Amino acid sequence: MKYINAEKINNLLTDAAKFDRRRLDQILDKARSLKRLTLAESAALLSVKDPQDLQKIFAAASFVKDAIYGRRVVLFAPLYISNLCANNCLYCAFKADNLALKRKALAIPEIGEQAEWLLKRGHKRILMVCGEKAPAGKSGVSYYTEAVQAIYSAGSGKDKIKRVNINCAPLSIDEFKQLKASGIGTYQIFQETYHEQTYRLMHPSGPKSDPDNRITAVDRAFKAGIDDIGIGALFGLYDYRFETLGLLSHVEHMEEEFKVGPHTISVPRIEPAEGSLISLNPPCKITDEEFKKIVAVLRLSVPYTGIIMSTRENPALRDSLLSLGVSQVSAGSNTSPGGYSAARAAAGGQFSLGDTRSLDEIVGTLIAHDYIPSFCAACYRMERTGESFMELARPGTIKGKCNMNALITLQEYLYDFASAPVKAAGQKMIDRYFKALAPADQEKLKIFFAHVAQGKRDEYV
Ligand code: SAM
Ligand code: SF4
Repeated sequence: MKYINAEKINNLLTDAAKFDRRRLDQILDKARSLKRLTLAESAALLSVKDPQDLQKIFAAASFVKDAIYGRRVVLFAPLYISNLCANNCLYCAFKADNLALKRKALAIPEIGEQAEWLLKRGHKRILMVCGEKAPAGKSGVSYYTEAVQAIYSAGSGKDKIKRVNINCAPLSIDEFKQLKASGIGTYQIFQETYHEQTYRLMHPSGPKSDPDNRITAVDRAFKAGIDDIGIGALFGLYDYRFETLGLLSHVEHMEEEFKVGPHTISVPRIEPAEGSLISLNPPCKITDEEFKKIVAVLRLSVPYTGIIMSTRENPALRDSLLSLGVSQVSAGSNTSPGGYSAARAAAGGQFSLGDTRSLDEIVGTLIAHDYIPSFCAACYRMERTGESFMELARPGTIKGKCNMNALITLQEYLYDFASAPVKAAGQKMIDRYFKALAPADQEKLKIFFAHVAQGKRDEYV
């Protein structure tokens, strides 16, 4: 597979098993100074098994998470627009051979309705998701761009979706240019597995069966001018240590070639999917402890990147992963096209969800754990994407802005959507964080809060 040196990864993993505790402390000291780790250092951390040493890694990851991102956690909802697919990924319910699945590609007005439904609950950021087959009469990219426009057009006045990210199949440079012109935020694509043999086994037919066409999609997106790119691996297909080093090799390639690393890294774990035996019994199933280690090692290895946790994880684990490095979570999610507004009539979903809490419940849980729920899209609005985002994120400068914007957007949510208990808890949180700010920041924030009280929305520093 392009950009992935499997032999080097295997050698690093073999060498890593021999390392001692003094080296662990050195690596963690380096990570705490917010420096990127080398592949060998990340391999060493991945090989740690001793519970006390693991606790050290977790503590360092919490430190780095807090230093770069502060207490804010960004919330988003996936919007599945179609489950038509030409591929046969063995782990996915949307695979072409799953003849039992009820198929549907939402019509453009239906996509707008789904966005309206999410807007009414307070969502501001959407991840648009779809299978790799366009509905009749459309090309993939024309369907996507119309869908993006429908989502941005949904709602009225100040009640609009602020950012549409997209997770879709690889495109050509020209098609990526059209996608960029439609106003997308991040383009997300998961390599699924960085182990070539496993990749070929898991993707027996369809355009996705070519691993190089998939891994080079990131390069084509960059060349088309999309500089916020999200990568990921589907954990459970192959050894998690190899996959994590595969992800980090991909990061190195992006940094070398485009001077910009991934805006986000996603860490989905295989969930049970209708019609997929492999999803019920994944070949390399990871434990919760291993999963926590993966998140912590990614946070320490690439401090500037956002780490996304999907709704796939159960509430207890998801809450504990937040402290280790996760900076974005999905909330109140549904994986069926049309599933939000017509749950019973909806088409088949992609996998079953570990977390069925509503957005309001998740906002309440975040507040209870002292995380500031954020609906901010300021970086995107101010064109702080790609390299200019990285410049702020690398030294941790983004944190001050993120926390202030999180407080402003939380205040908006409390006025417009929160239930009474969440409103009370959220207000207490805002007051507490406000008091801890420097006087100059308090003055700034006072003005924003006055605007929010007057009905202004979507303000940011
Ligand atoms: N079809 C496009 C593709 O595969 O790139 C984009 C959408 S696909 C629905 C998004 C992601 O869902 C895939 O990249 C894969 O990682 C994830 N996925 C598929 N089956 C899954 C399962 N059973 N459990 C968890 N995640 C799964
Ligand atoms: Fe299709 Fe994506 Fe599912 Fe594979 S993972 S079957 S490409 S929707």
